[in-house]
Amino acid sequence: MIEGRCGGCGRVAPLGEAIVYPDAPGLVVRCKTCSHVLATIIDAGERLFLSFAGMTAFAMRRDQAEESVSVA
Ligand SMILES: [Zn+2]
Repeated sequence: MIEGRCGGCGRVAPLGEAIVYPDAPGLVVRCKTCSHVLATIIDAGERLFLSFAGMTAFAMRRDQAEESVSVA
């Protein structure tokens, strides 16, 4: 689980709680509390543009991060 801090209201919450608008020209992720745009993902054919400019920090539990990058 990854948590992020909203650049609009400062709320720290799991990214899974954010509201996703898939019908915009790209995919728009907004804060559940203040509707600030947290992230955008735009599919431009050969390129995928990702922006997380609306978030001021990310946090992930160390044990979960180590599990996700470990190689068997
Ligand atoms: Zn917010």
